[in-house]
Order: sequence, then structure tokens, then C-alpha cells
Amino acid sequence: MFESDTIAAISTPLSSEGGIGIVRISGAEAIAVADKIYRGKNRLCDTLSHTVSYGHIYNGDDLLDEVMVTVFRAPRSYTREDVVEISCHGSIFLLRKVLSIVVKNGARPADPGEFTKRAFLNGRIDLSEAQSVMDLISSENELALKNSLSHLSGALKKKIGDLRQEILYETARIESALDDPEHYDLDGYDRLLSDKLTQWTDILRDLIDSFRDGSTIRDGIKTLILGRPNVGKSSLFNLLVNREAAIVTNIPGTTRDVVEEKISFSDFSLRLMDTAGIRHTEDTVEKIGVKKALSLIEDAELVIFVIDGSEPLGDDDYEIMERIRDKRTVVLLNKSDLSQIVTEAEIRNIFEKVSGSACLDKISIIAFSSIDMTGLSSLKDEISHLYFNGEVKNSDRLYITNERQKFRLDEAFSSICRVRESLEQEMPEDFYTVDLMDAYESLGEITGEQISDDLVDEIFSEFCMGK
Ligand code: GDP
Repeated sequence: MFESDTIAAISTPLSSEGGIGIVRISGAEAIAVADKIYRGKNRLCDTLSHTVSYGHIYNGDDLLDEVMVTVFRAPRSYTREDVVEISCHGSIFLLRKVLSIVVKNGARPADPGEFTKRAFLNGRIDLSEAQSVMDLISSENELALKNSLSHLSGALKKKIGDLRQEILYETARIESALDDPEHYDLDGYDRLLSDKLTQWTDILRDLIDSFRDGSTIRDGIKTLILGRPNVGKSSLFNLLVNREAAIVTNIPGTTRDVVEEKISFSDFSLRLMDTAGIRHTEDTVEKIGVKKALSLIEDAELVIFVIDGSEPLGDDDYEIMERIRDKRTVVLLNKSDLSQIVTEAEIRNIFEKVSGSACLDKISIIAFSSIDMTGLSSLKDEISHLYFNGEVKNSDRLYITNERQKFRLDEAFSSICRVRESLEQEMPEDFYTVDLMDAYESLGEITGEQISDDLVDEIFSEFCMGK
């Protein structure tokens, strides 16, 4: 086990008051340190692992709090060291006080992520599982939660581990044949290796491709609200974010810049952007807003196109339809509480004229009202359907959400492609092994088997305090 001092931190959020708050201590002296400040029926050093004791925390002779203390003995703990968790009342002031006397009695304040770093260094979890802990803590919707749990239960570790194993086996086979040609020969091996390379590139490509959806699951679908001025874009934005984040007025041209908020529904999150109303204008500032809104279309993953259904369509509406022709779009026929002039069929016809019937698969049209909330639940259903096609929710596909992991997968993919090139160009076999080992090492960086100390420090410093 990796040798370390005893660390302590407040492991519950510091942002607000809660019913309870936890001070966590980990290390060889964890139980001894806790015993110095805890008074109860038994000393903690005499209790069994995984037991909870009731007692009080003292600072010298001053009573600080009534607590429950859980003891986990090494190696059956999160860090594989002795761990003590003191459940206090949830005042931040009190928790800081308890932490300070824990530190006064021999522990050191933990760095962010240091508990999880120890779990990694002591071999309890691999790096992909450690990173999923961070994703799990920050997950804001069910898909993100499901994906990080699947990483945490070792799904990526297994996939990468199996792949590395196979690469190592083939490398060893080539090396053996080169070293000992009398006993091992490589006749007919090219075809076998070629099949293996195809299998590996398929697995890697699938993981690399999952990154786009993986990031979207974690960070939210980049969603642009577009429409003419005064059709109800800001009202919709406010309704969705549940507060007055954008200014709502009946003066056309009020939202001149872009307002962005992340909102989470139970299944998915949106990075929602409210934009300036699109119209031809001579106002210099408004023009900038319109230009900005239009420039965001390319990057958007989803467009919510708001139309005022109580008024005839105008040239600006047609122009927007032209510009979003390739985009997955939900059209909101807004103000459905007023008598309607625009029909769903009319919108469909225009889209079909502008971009052909194929585009209709990417478009949903919903009657909507920000006033009486007609269409709100259909909007969520349609986005889920349009974006994830009903697949993500039910599939067990593993999604890569981490930039670093994606980078290493790209590297491994390139190395395997180089092996294929060497094979096709009938290069000597030792050319294969160099690139195979490069792929093996890149993949090892994902699970943490092949990683420098500096990088470990960098990765864990991104964690939150107390984890
Ligand atoms: P934006 O310029 O597109 O952002 O439009 P706003 O959200 O500022 O709304 C313009 C006006 O339309 C305001 O007076 C809103 O109260 C009104 N409005 C927005 N949505 C609806 C709706 O669904 N029904 C009705 N009747 N009025 C709405």
C-alpha cells in the first residue's frame, strides 16, 4: 500500500446549511486522531469496522457537538486506509471548527480529490473509475448518472483492459517469432492480425464516436432559441429556466445579446441560449445581436424556432427556416392561447419547399403557450425523441465524457491504423510491434496503469474538496 500521512476534510457541501455534515479522516492515525476528540461509551480504537458509535466531540473540555461516528478499518474502506467519518450537525461554522480540532490533533487538511487519489494509488479503483466518481458527483440528469455509474462499476476499465490484453498477446506472439523463428512462425499470420486490427479499430471508433453524445449527456444539448422579435423567445427561456433570467418585454428587439443557462430535466440537460430577435434592422446594436444569433446556428445541436402563431408569417421567418434547414429543430407555434393564423401544415410545407422532404424527420412542430404552458411537456418529449431517438435511455452503450480519455483513444486508434499501413506495405514485423506497444501504452493512460505522478496530481486536483 502507498504510504501516507493522515488527512481530513469536510466531505459534505459547504454552500448551504444541511441537517448533517460529515468530517472525514483517512490514514494510519485516523482512529487515534478521532479518539482524541471523541467521547462515547467506547473508545473508537476498540470498535469493529463498519460500526457507528454515538457520542460527543470535545475541544479540550468544551463540548462542540453531539455526533455519530463511523469507523472503517483498512483495507475495507473507500481509501483502503483507516477511515473515520464524523457526522455532525450541518452548520458550516461547526463543521469548520470540528475540522480544525481534527487538524490540531494530528491530521493534515486534505487536498481536493485526495481521498479518491488514495483509493486509486492503493489500487481500489482504476483511473477511469476515479474519474467517474467526479462525473457522478456532478451529474445533473438520469443519463449522466447512469453513464457515470456504469464507468464506476468498471465497464470502461474492463473494455480497455481486455483490449490491452489482446494487443499485448499479439505483440508477444510477433516478438517470440522474431526471437525464435525455429519454434514460432508467422506464416498466415498477416490475415489473422488484419482481422484483429479491424476488431480493435471498431471498438476504438465506437468509443471515440460516443464522445460527442457523452459530452452532450454530461454538459447539455447546445440549444438555440431563434425567432423574430416579440414572438415569445424570452418568455419561453424564462419558463424553462424557471426564473427571470432574460428580460421579457413587448418592445421588439430587447434581447440584444445572448443569454445562456444550463437547465436539467430528469433525462437530459440543455445549454439553452436566448438570442436577439431575427429581423432586418437599421439599429447598429441590434444588428450586432442579430449577427451573433445567426453565427451561433452552425454550432447549435438543437434549435427551438419560435413562431407567433397568432400573426401571419413574415420574410424574417422564411429567412430563419432557410438558415436552420440542416438542424434538428423543434418549431413552437407560440401564443396558442390566442386565435391562430399559422397552421402546422403551412410550416411543414415551407420547410419541405426550403430543404426537401428529408428534412421533415428532423423537425417537430408543437402548439405552445408560455402563458398557460400548453405544450411544455410535449417540448421535453420531442427534444428527447429528436435528439436521442429514444435510444440512449434504453441502451447500455458506454459513453466517453472525458476529454483526456478521448485524446488517448484517438492516439491508440492512430497507432493501430499505423500497424495496418505497415501490414499493407509488407513492412518487417518489428514495425508492427512498435505501434502496437504505443497503442497499449495510450490505453494504459486511461486506466492509470501507465501514468506519471504529475498527471495523477493534475487529474485529482480537479476534484471537489472532501472527495
Ligand atoms: P421575444 O422578443 O421573442 O423574446 O418575446 P418576449 O418573450 O419578450 O414576449 C413578447 C410579448 O409576447 C410579451 O408581451 C409576452 O408577454 C408575450 N407573450 C409571450 N409568449 C406568449 C404566449 O404564449 N401567449 C401570449 N398571449 N403572449 C405571449
